[in-house]
Amino acid sequence: VRKIQRNGPQTPIEVEQPFALKAPRTDVMLVTPWLAPIIWEGSFDQKLLDATYKPLNFTIGMTLFAVAKYTRFLKPFLESAEKHFMQGYRVNYYIFTDIPEQVPRVELKPGRSVVVFNTVKYSRWQEISLRRMEIINKHIMNKSIREVDYLYCLDVDLIFTNHYGAETFAPLVAVLHPGYFNILRNKFPYERRPESQAYVPKDHGHFYYIAAMLGGTLNNIVDVTAACHQALQVDKVNGIEAAWQEESHLNKYLVTNMPHKILSMEYLCNSEAPTPASVKVCRFSTVKKNHAEIRAQ
Ligand code: UDP
Ligand code: MN
Repeated sequence: VRKIQRNGPQTPIEVEQPFALKAPRTDVMLVTPWLAPIIWEGSFDQKLLDATYKPLNFTIGMTLFAVAKYTRFLKPFLESAEKHFMQGYRVNYYIFTDIPEQVPRVELKPGRSVVVFNTVKYSRWQEISLRRMEIINKHIMNKSIREVDYLYCLDVDLIFTNHYGAETFAPLVAVLHPGYFNILRNKFPYERRPESQAYVPKDHGHFYYIAAMLGGTLNNIVDVTAACHQALQVDKVNGIEAAWQEESHLNKYLVTNMPHKILSMEYLCNSEAPTPASVKVCRFSTVKKNHAEIRAQ
């Protein structure tokens, strides 16, 4: 893994002056109690970030699973990513599928490429989803995924609807779940049975994160996927499955391994629920799906 340097722009660029006594937003939390920024529209300068990071010629990786009927999501996903995701950066899409012939040919901008990996179709949809931790970990460990500065592990039943770029770079980054950003933590859908490795007591935790997106450097993604995979295996041996499978284990991990950056619900909008007033722009949105139909085997 390459060392990530932040040198600042090569040449000074014009930006609006920030003032120490003037908060860019006062309606939302901009920094956590452990001093990780929370990313909201209005809190960052895209031009300044790009002037800082583009000269470093980063390569951004993305893992996407499209197993069984989920291959139908690939085309709209990739087309929208080509418009909005990491514009001006090198991007490698790593697509895991059991039906490689259904990976669509989408026109990619220069410096961007698709790599297809064969994966098996597990019989339960929960298994397909939670096995991602193990599979991503293995592909980093065996160097099938390498030389990326940041890796984003995303659900495929989503589309990009606005700019999604360098403001999300961090060693480990997670997204606020759009369903649970404003409730007491004792109501978070954490796994509450102490027998599970994903157990979180009622008075622990900070934010509830959605498993549809996890990002970071390869070192950090290796650690989080290994921890979740191991916890999932222990639960399996003990005959227990956490309430929300890998999302429960991810949230348990993040209680103690707090992310260095948090993305607001702008970065995972639920298209089937009203948009909260604090969300000024939806950047990445769920695609409506008929669960019974698409998960039917
Ligand atoms: N997935 C898949 N095939 C399946 C079930 C799941 O490829 O039959 C993958 C796909 O990438 C999907 C992710 O696992 O986005 C998580 O599953 P899903 O989106 O159905 O979970 P939800 O977001 O509804 O909780
Ligand atoms: Mn999903």
